Amino acid sequence: MAGIVVVFDFDKTIIELDSDNWVVDELGATELFDQLLPTMPWNSLMDRMMKELHAQGKTIEDIEEVLRRAPIHPRIVPAIKKAHAIGCDLRIVSDANMFFIETIVDHLGIKDCFSEINSNPSYIDEQRRLRISPYIDFHSSPHACDLCPPNMCKGMIIERMQASFSKEGKRRMIYLGDGAGDFCPSLKLKEGDFMMPRKNFPVWDLICKNRALLRAEIHEWIEGEELEHILLELIETISNLNSAQMLSVDCKFETIPMAAHEALPPPLKVHH
Ligand SMILES: [Mg+2]
Ligand SMILES: [Zn+2]
Repeated sequence: MAGIVVVFDFDKTIIELDSDNWVVDELGATELFDQLLPTMPWNSLMDRMMKELHAQGKTIEDIEEVLRRAPIHPRIVPAIKKAHAIGCDLRIVSDANMFFIETIVDHLGIKDCFSEINSNPSYIDEQRRLRISPYIDFHSSPHACDLCPPNMCKGMIIERMQASFSKEGKRRMIYLGDGAGDFCPSLKLKEGDFMMPRKNFPVWDLICKNRALLRAEIHEWIEGEELEHILLELIETISNLNSAQMLSVDCKFETIPMAAHEALPPPLKVHH
C-alpha cells in the first residue's frame, strides 16, 4: 500500500532477542562483556568486544554463523513479506549494527523487503576484525536528546523521514519497537500514525506512564503472531481510509463514506 511507511526496531522486535548479547553470549564472552559494561558506552563496548573475540581466534565466519541462528518467531518473516508484497515501504531503525542486521535479514530472505536500514555503521578491517562505530559521532557532533543514548537518537531518524515525506506527499507511519530507545521516536509520530509497542517491555512501560505525550494511536502486541495480526489489520484500515479520502476528495463529498467510517473505531478527520 503506497503511502504507508512501517518502521521496525530490530532486536526483540524482528528477532526474539538482542543481537549484541546473542553474539557475545554464543561466542563465550559474557563475563568480559559484563566486566567492561560499567566502564564504557554500549556501542563502544561492542566494538571492543569484536576486537577481544578476534584476539581469541573467533572469525567473521563464526560471528555470521551465530547470527544465522538467532531465534525469531515463525510469524515475523511472513508478516514482513506480506506487508512488503502489498506495497508498504518497510524500514529498520536499530541500535545494533549494520553487519549483524544485514547478515540476519539476508539469511531470512527479507533483505529486499526493506528500503532503508538505519543502524550503527560497521566494517571489516584489514585484520578481518569487525569494527562497529556510533551512528552519531558523539564527540564531534553530539545530539541534544536526553532520552537517547549518545550514539543514536531514533527520534532524529524519524524526523528526517518525516521531512522527506513532506516533500514527497502524505505518508502514515506505523512504528514497532520494544526498547527504551523506541520511546523517543514514538513521541515524534503524528496524529494519524500508529505506535505498536511490545507489551511489558521498556517502551510499553514508558508509554503507559506518558500516554498524553503521544499523538499516534497505540496498539500493543506481545509476540510474533499478534504482531502479524495487528500490523496487517492496521495496514488494511489505513488503506481503506486512504481510498475513502481519495473518493471523498474526488467526489467533493463533505461526509465520510460509510465503509471507511465503520472500519475505523475512533473519529476520523478527512482533510480536503
Ligand atoms: Mg529492540
Ligand atoms: Zn532521542
